[in-house]
Amino acid sequence: MVKIQEIEVKPVMTKSNLPVADLSVNPYVGCLHGCKYCYASFMKLTCALLFLTLYSCQLHARQDITVMPEDSITQPQPSVEPLHELSHTALYLDSLGYVNVMEQDSSIRVSLMYAREDNFTGKLLYQDLKEAYLHPDAIAPLLRAQQLLRQRHPDYSLIIFDAARPMHVQQQMWEVVKGTRQQNYVSNPAHGGGLHNYGLAVDISIANAEGDTIPMGTKVDHLGREANTDYTAISQEALQNRRLLIQVMRQAGFRSLPTEWWHFNLVSRQTAKEKYRVIP
Ligand SMILES: [Zn+2]
Repeated sequence: MVKIQEIEVKPVMTKSNLPVADLSVNPYVGCLHGCKYCYASFMKLTCALLFLTLYSCQLHARQDITVMPEDSITQPQPSVEPLHELSHTALYLDSLGYVNVMEQDSSIRVSLMYAREDNFTGKLLYQDLKEAYLHPDAIAPLLRAQQLLRQRHPDYSLIIFDAARPMHVQQQMWEVVKGTRQQNYVSNPAHGGGLHNYGLAVDISIANAEGDTIPMGTKVDHLGREANTDYTAISQEALQNRRLLIQVMRQAGFRSLPTEWWHFNLVSRQTAKEKYRVIP
C-alpha cells in the first residue's frame, strides 16, 4: 500500500540575497536513479525515501521553467522521462532499510541470474527485481572486498549474481518450480529462509575490464561437485581465480561455502536466526 502525501516545494528559481545575482537556482542535483530534479543526494537521503515527494518536485520544476526566459538557467531541462527505473521490489527493500549495492559502489557489477532465463531452471524466477540489495551490515565488508580485489587487479571488479531475496520473492520462485524437476533446487519458503532471505548472502564472481566473468571452472549455480571449493580438476587459471575470489571475500569478512565457490555468507545460519529477521 503506498500512501501519497502532497507537499509544497520550492520553485526552481528563487530570489537570491547574493550581491552578484538576483535569482539563484535551487540545488536539484540529480540522483543515481536518474531523477534530474531529485533532492535526495543534496539532502544526503536515500532516493526511495523521497520517491513520492519527487513527483511533486518535478511537476513544480516543469511549471516554473515554462515561464522563465530562454537561457536563464544552465541546469538540466525538465522532462517527462520516468522518475527512475528502480523495480518495485527495490523500492520495497529501500523502504525496509536494505541497501542497494550500486548506490554504495557503482564499480561493482550486478547481473542477477534469476532475473534472466539462462539460470539453472531455464525460467525467469524474479518477476521484477534486478538490483542487488544487502542488509546494511553486509555492505562495508562487500565494499572492502571490492577494494582488496582492485588493489591486486585494478582492472577487475566483483560481479553480483544474487543478493537479498525477500521471502515473498522466494515464494514466487517456488511457485514457478513447484511440481517440476527443479523443485529440489529451490528452497520451499514454508521451511524458513536461507541467508539470501536475510540479505546476508551474496552470489558473486569476478569480471574483467570488459565486464566478462573470468574463468572459474564452472558457471555460477552449476549443480555438481565441480562447484566445490576443494575440487581441483579445473584449469590452473580457474583454480587461481577461485582462490583470488575466496581470499578477498574472506579477508573482507565473508564466509565461503564449500559446495558453491560463488556463494558467501556474512554470518552463520544460527547467528542469522538469533540476530536478524528474514525479509518479508
Ligand atoms: Zn547463494
